[in-house]
Amino acid sequence: MGVNIEKVFGENVFDDAVMKVRLPKSDFETVKKLMHEGGEITEDLADVVAQAMKEWALEKGATHYTHVFQPYVISVGAEKHDSFASVPENGRIENTFTGEELLKGEPDASSFPSGGLRETCGARGYTAWDITSPVYIKEDTLCIPTAFCSYTGESLDTKTPLLKAMHAVSKQGVRLMRLFGNEVTNRIYSYVGPEQEYFLVDREKYLKRPDLIYSGRTLFGAKAPKGQEMDDQYFGSIPPRVKAFMEDLNTKLWKLGITAKTQHCEVAPGQFEIAPIFSISNVALDNNLLVMDLLKKTAKSHGMICLLHEKPFDGINGSGKHNNWSLTTDDGINLFKPGKEPENNKLFQLVLACTMAAVDTHAVLLRLAASNTGNDHRLGANEAPPAIISMYLGDQVGDVVEQIIKNGKATSSLSSGEIDFGIKKLPKLEKDPTDRNRTSPFAFTGNRFEFRMVASSNTIGDVNTVLNVMMAEQFEKAVAALEGAEDFDKAVEEYTAKLMKEHARIVFNGNGYSEEWTVEAEKRGLPNCKSIVDAIPSLLDETTIEMYGKFGVLSKAELEARKEILFEQYAGVRNIEALTMVDMANKMLIPAVVKYTKKLADTVLAVKEAGVDATVQTEMLSEVSEKLVEMKNAVKDLEDITEKAANAEDAQTSAIAYKDEVMAAMAALRKPADELEVIMPKEAWPMPTYGDLIFEL
Ligand code: ADP
Ligand code: MG
Repeated sequence: MGVNIEKVFGENVFDDAVMKVRLPKSDFETVKKLMHEGGEITEDLADVVAQAMKEWALEKGATHYTHVFQPYVISVGAEKHDSFASVPENGRIENTFTGEELLKGEPDASSFPSGGLRETCGARGYTAWDITSPVYIKEDTLCIPTAFCSYTGESLDTKTPLLKAMHAVSKQGVRLMRLFGNEVTNRIYSYVGPEQEYFLVDREKYLKRPDLIYSGRTLFGAKAPKGQEMDDQYFGSIPPRVKAFMEDLNTKLWKLGITAKTQHCEVAPGQFEIAPIFSISNVALDNNLLVMDLLKKTAKSHGMICLLHEKPFDGINGSGKHNNWSLTTDDGINLFKPGKEPENNKLFQLVLACTMAAVDTHAVLLRLAASNTGNDHRLGANEAPPAIISMYLGDQVGDVVEQIIKNGKATSSLSSGEIDFGIKKLPKLEKDPTDRNRTSPFAFTGNRFEFRMVASSNTIGDVNTVLNVMMAEQFEKAVAALEGAEDFDKAVEEYTAKLMKEHARIVFNGNGYSEEWTVEAEKRGLPNCKSIVDAIPSLLDETTIEMYGKFGVLSKAELEARKEILFEQYAGVRNIEALTMVDMANKMLIPAVVKYTKKLADTVLAVKEAGVDATVQTEMLSEVSEKLVEMKNAVKDLEDITEKAANAEDAQTSAIAYKDEVMAAMAALRKPADELEVIMPKEAWPMPTYGDLIFEL
């Protein structure tokens, strides 16, 4: 039997309800306001809060506390646990937790990527409590969400820039609202609902696959006879073992105040999805890290392994993380909501024009923020959005934009109407004004944009930083253009039309998976970065430096560091993959094939001796032997080429060498190995196959 959500929800969160009981009334009001709106807390008040947190945590059995932070590019939260124990006095210790300990932590930062921002001799890093994201208890530890920066104040995580970008879009958005005569909006919230895709495999089988263990994806493996061609997985009935895992996971998430809402089987066999209800971006970021952490841990306790890699298996769909994003004012106006009459909703039209301009201007930056090494296997692979950024607006809003581009304004809008099943017993349903376009990387879905390119194992910090800061930039430009206009309505109309005309090329409503789109996009001059490596330099584009600098989100030095880290990260991931392949080939595959050739050779001799025709056996032996030679040579090549790439003079050259040369050498090794897997007997193959891994849960 499942748990009652209402009863367990938020049980492990230090939320308003807990504070109300445990803090003096006036302190409670102040802290509550700070938690919802942000701002600085005094040390005295921090002491009071820390005391209340400690007591609550101890009652719940916690022994430790930790500042949770997320070093840049490492997609897991970092935690350094401290117990509540004080310095012993007369042989006794007490549980203590002070305001200062709550506010500030000092983890040694020298072992995290810094891209040259920090000398190893200056290793100090600081974590500061992000008061707007809830404190919670996980595994007997009081967890405090924090932002992480270096001794000299540069951000070393994905949280800090996000908080800055959220602040920027709020500030500029409020200015825009004022121009529209709105005097009540005080802030703009950016909301995110991330849909998380993942694979599950049996743990015993996983342990026999060094490629999964070291690199999170299969580096060898022939296609199983069945893949996803029957379309019988998506929304299929959830296997009992997986159902039990999901129940367990949901309960843990609910207790942490995470609104796990939907779950279902995804397109590929062994693939699933979980989505919470949307929340404010920085909280969504923290929550998504928790979801990824708990997916892995919970799977283990059910004898399975959760693979968050973007492409664990060749030939079937990979995993993404759809980032559903919207901007809403604190008085409840969703800026992406067209309303009943989108043709008359000037604010919506302007915001939409700003979004078009923003996406068009920073397309490569968006593509980069959504990417990691693993996503290179997915984007543009006829399953996920192409590597080209474009926007899908749907019929209704698309038509409004067309009218504006053509006539300077819109005068009508297509109504959505009702869906009639044609059966009396079934209700008539109101149609959504937008159909879905599953092939668009950036799709308007009625009241939000769904950015579908994001890598499944990535943090959503970077993506939402770009989304929010690029809107701040456009809002600021719009305010500058409209402020002091004599005829405001007319100025808005003209500015909206101007932006839509200038950036019309970014809208594409057709099939994003088609060949024709790639050709068409090139004609339109839209960038098509096939690999993350091609997109990384965009961090230092003039447009990027200017935008991040203007809103104080990231300095040029920080951007340079991030560029360096990303190149290093790419090379590092590919290096592990290459070495794993060499290792598997040498220790598992080649010995297995050698053994099999011996068996075949013995058979050939025995059959010949018996005076019968041994042609088939002989042919098999020579085929297997040929592929064995090919494999052995490919291993040697891969080793040499990898060593060369690793020793390239700088991070970028190295990353390019891994992308072009090492990847080709990896493919050259995989080919004979996969062919051998197909022709050799199952018992002679030394590891579980695709069929074993994805169809047997
Ligand atoms: P889909 O049909 O696209 O798979 P899901 O229900 O799986 O949709 O996920 C949609 C996600 O979008 C959920 O996390 C949902 O809470 C989120 N969402 C809904 N409305 C908004 C909004 N206004 N802003 C941001 N996210 C939203
Ligand atoms: Mg979904």
